[in-house]
Amino acid sequence: MTTETEKAGEIPVMTPETKCSFCHRSICCTYTTQEIDTPRSMDDFDHMLWQMAHQNIQIYKDEDGWFLLINNRCRFLKDEGGCSIYDSRPQVCRDYSNDYCEYDEPAENGFDKFFDSYESLEAYCRKRFKKWDKRYTAE
Ligand code: SF4
Ligand code: SF4
Repeated sequence: MTTETEKAGEIPVMTPETKCSFCHRSICCTYTTQEIDTPRSMDDFDHMLWQMAHQNIQIYKDEDGWFLLINNRCRFLKDEGGCSIYDSRPQVCRDYSNDYCEYDEPAENGFDKFFDSYESLEAYCRKRFKKWDKRYTAE
């Protein structure tokens, strides 16, 4: 996106008010998250594996707990960036601060655990549970 200052030949200055115009991918509008119960049993992890079998789903754990990361862009995100319903956007969008966000550092850097694929979660389960591969007949 070309800013007004660039058009005028001036050096663009990043401030809290202009920062999002530098973020061409509008990263914070391209996913949602949903907290999930802390998984403990093989059944819990098997359920998570089913969730991760679906497209665009990842799972992470951070200091706030376990979360589904649903990588789907918001339908109101404009192709050129920016919100097409800015004046009536949901409260969660209004509360989100760009003070230190994904533009500054990938969110993954703050995760304790990050499963970016079905295979990565399956490998973790196999290490965590000795009977993982026999779980279907464990009952
Ligand atoms: S809040 Fe951060 S990630 Fe979201 S659009 Fe602004 S700079 Fe980009
Ligand atoms: S409603 Fe607007 S601000 Fe909220 S996620 Fe969608 S594009 Fe982003």
